[in-house]
Formats: sequence, C-alpha cells, structure tokens
Amino acid sequence: MKVVFASSEIYPFAKTGGLADISGSLPKEIAKKGIKVFGFMPLYKTVDIEKHKIKPINVYIDVFLNGRTYTFEVYKLIDNVTFFFLKNDELFGRDYLYGTPEGDYSDNDVRFGAFSYAVMEFIKKEELNPDIIHVNDWQTSLIPVLTYYKYNWHHVRTVLTIHNLAYQGIFDKFAIERLNLEWDLFHMEALEFYDKVNFLKGGIVFSSAITTVSPTYAKEILKPEYGFGLDGLLRKYENKLYGIINGIDYNIWNPETDKYIYENHCEYTIEKKFINKKLFLKETNLEGEEKPLFIFIGRLAHQKGIDLIKDSIEELSKLPINLAILGSGDKEYNDFFESIKGKYENIFIKVGYDEPFSRKMYAAGDFLLMPSLFEPCGLNQMIAMRYAALVVARKTGGLNDTVIDISQPDGYGILFENPNEYEFLNAVNRAIDLYNNKQKFSELQKKVMGFDFSIESTAQKYIKLYESLKYSREVVL
Ligand code: ADP
Repeated sequence: MKVVFASSEIYPFAKTGGLADISGSLPKEIAKKGIKVFGFMPLYKTVDIEKHKIKPINVYIDVFLNGRTYTFEVYKLIDNVTFFFLKNDELFGRDYLYGTPEGDYSDNDVRFGAFSYAVMEFIKKEELNPDIIHVNDWQTSLIPVLTYYKYNWHHVRTVLTIHNLAYQGIFDKFAIERLNLEWDLFHMEALEFYDKVNFLKGGIVFSSAITTVSPTYAKEILKPEYGFGLDGLLRKYENKLYGIINGIDYNIWNPETDKYIYENHCEYTIEKKFINKKLFLKETNLEGEEKPLFIFIGRLAHQKGIDLIKDSIEELSKLPINLAILGSGDKEYNDFFESIKGKYENIFIKVGYDEPFSRKMYAAGDFLLMPSLFEPCGLNQMIAMRYAALVVARKTGGLNDTVIDISQPDGYGILFENPNEYEFLNAVNRAIDLYNNKQKFSELQKKVMGFDFSIESTAQKYIKLYESLKYSREVVL
C-alpha cells in the first residue's frame, strides 16, 4: 500500500497548531506498520532546512494557474516517511504560514491551489502511484477535486481529514478561473457556497472518505450549531464520515525525557513534578506553592473560550490559585492580554508562541484550563495529562471523548456543559476543592499519567480505513 499524505503544516518543520502535531506523528506511525508514506508540505521561509537536513533534489514542477506558470523546486527528507517540500518563494517565502495577525493573506487560494496542483504533478511525474491520497483541512482540500475531476484518477481513493470545520478556505467566485477550474464546478453540489468558492466543500464532496478528529465532533458537525454552514452537506455525506480520535506522540511528549522541563519525572516519581512547579513559579514571579497552578496554552481565538477567561479575569484574580496563560492569536485578544500583563499578582501572561515554555507549563501545572466553545479533538488535554496535570474543560468534541468528570465513577477531570462565566468559575472552584483533597488529587495525577492516548491506535484506525477503501470493503473501525 502506498499513501500520499499532504498537509499545510507538519511538525517539527512548521506548526501553528494541532494539525502540525498530527501531520508529523500520524504518517510516521502508519509507516511503522510497513506502509509506504510520502508526505508533502510547502517549504515555508520559516522551515529550518539546515537543522532538519532537508535537501533539494534537482526536480522542478511547473503548474499553470492564475494566468501564469508557478515553478516549485522540490526538496526532500528521508525518514521512515519520505517528505517532499515544495518551494516557491513568491507564494511561501513569507513571515507567516497563512497570514499576519491582522488577517489572512489575500492570495491563499492561489498559494494552496498551486501547492495542490504541484503535489498532483509531482505524483504524476515521479510515478508514485499511490493507492490513497490523504489530505487535511481546506488548504489541501482541492486535491480530491483535482484527483477526481481534473486528473481522472478514479482508481485512487482520497481521504479528507477535517481538523477544524471553522476554517473552510472561502474565496470570491473568480477563484474558479484563477485556479484553472471549470465553471461547471461552481454549483451547490460542488465548490459553490453562497456565491463563493469553498475549498473544504470541494474536499467533502469529492473525497472517498471524510474523517474528523473525534467521535463526538463527528456527531456535532452534523448540527447547525457546530456546522458552520456545512452541516447540511455533511449530513448528506454522513455515510462516508468517520470520527477517529487523534493521539499524541509519546516520544515527543514525555516528562521522563523532555529536555526543556526543569526536572524529569514519571508516574513513580511524581513528587518531582513539584520541583517543576516551584521553579516555574520562581521564573514567573508567582507566589504560593501551596496554591493550585492553573495553566492555559493555546491559540487566542474565540473557539478556545478565551472570552470566558477574559470576562472572568477579575474573579480569577481573587481566587486562591495561580494562573499562567501562554498564547497568541487574534489581535483583539493579544492586545487584551498584553494590556493586563502584571496587573494581577496571581496571573502570569505570555503572549506569543513558545514551545519550550509550553513544556515547562505542562510540567508545572496542576490543572489545564480548556474552556473551548468547540474542540474538534484537542491535544493539549492529552499532553497535560501525560505531564500529570488534570483537565478542566468544556464538555465538547474531543474533550468529551478524553475527559470524564470526577462526578462519574471513573472520573479524573472536571467538565462543564454551558459556556458561561458561572459554569466556568464553578468548574474552577470544583478543581480547587479537588486539589485540597490531597490524596484524591495525587491518585488522579498518577492515573492520568498512565493513560494511553497514543497516536498508535489512531494510526491503526487509519490503516483499516485505507484498506477498506483500497479493496472497496465496508469500513469497520
Ligand atoms: P489547535 O486548535 O490550535 O490545533 P490543539 O489542542 O489541537 O489546538 O493543538 C494545540 C497544539 O499547539 C498543542 O501542541 C499546544 O501545546 C500547542 N500550542 C498552542 N499554542 C501555543 C503557544 N502559544 N505556544 C506553544 N505551543 C502552543
């Protein structure tokens, strides 16, 4: 079996969020099971080719769109997965992956459209002959459209994974012409979406199977509240939609070996976690080792429930807790958190993206806050539990699939239903009570550290899916 895996971000080469984590760990895990995997991503300016030993292979791909030719130079890295990086500096030699904090780049249709064509052309030129082409989110959603409609590779099966339905890649209707597509694709059953072009919609319609990143989210997106206008279409294609929970790479996220944290530990030496907390508090000028340390790490976006934190900040400052926040995202939130830096004694804020620092936070934290309004899967909660932090989260999407509330017989976290300040603060107070029950708290810490949210079981499900598609068998995951 041969699989092409295309993604707009792959860890450790480029990352803005969970998509990169999965695009790094899933192909590797699949390849470990003896499947040949070719990974593809754009070669952004921010990718450190020296560090990762990514080399040009003297292959050039020309694609024609937007009334002209774009040339991509192909770079390669051989690991257990062969990664190809497609370089065109005009399109990808920029400071950010998708846009500045002020907004998305206006030519993202051409950028990711050209990348999608280049992947197709490379597959053709190098005769990769994949059985499966697996694409991720809107950025690579044009590939199933091209596979089926433009290249007529009807024997190739395509899988689209939706990591976040909120981002669909919507452009004005003349994107059809810029992308060198035919106008007969511009109708409700294909790419058209309220008189615009919707990349993700193309992926949903033309892929052989759609997956999303947790069973709960797979159900939620069929409802208008979570469907972002595509719930009707997804209901139509429900028979090819599967929820497969993501996992984390335990080699990357391991408090026993993590070189960025203050003190390594495992579930048998959990008392060392306290050293991490102590040194973190010192580094961040927070006081009170005896108080529970809450952490928030994530994109500062409405989706993540930032408004709940923002609106409750005064209340949070009065509770017997410490709170550390690390994030960057929408300008409005960046500005807000910058503006209250240093205002409260018990709240530390860092606006920015900083992986080493995030690791120190996971290692130090007693509770991870994840008040997301919706959460397709969420990796933070899995990482946090691996580092012995309990999770306080809203009961939605992947959080619902990975956290059980302590009111349940086997519960080990705190969930709240409705995204309002009252329920959120109530959840924080429940966490404080739990923390004060020292024995129970440390029992649960040990318990969550031992969980297996590994990418291995995710990979096994994807392999089953690929095989079912290849041999036209019923999909049973
Ligand atoms: P998303 O919706 O952003 O993809 P996930 O929970 O799936 O959310 O994945 C988030 C990933 O990004 C985690 O690995 C998390 O640790 C990391 N992350 C998010 N924001 C930051 C930040 N500001 N600094 C460092 N790492 C971050």
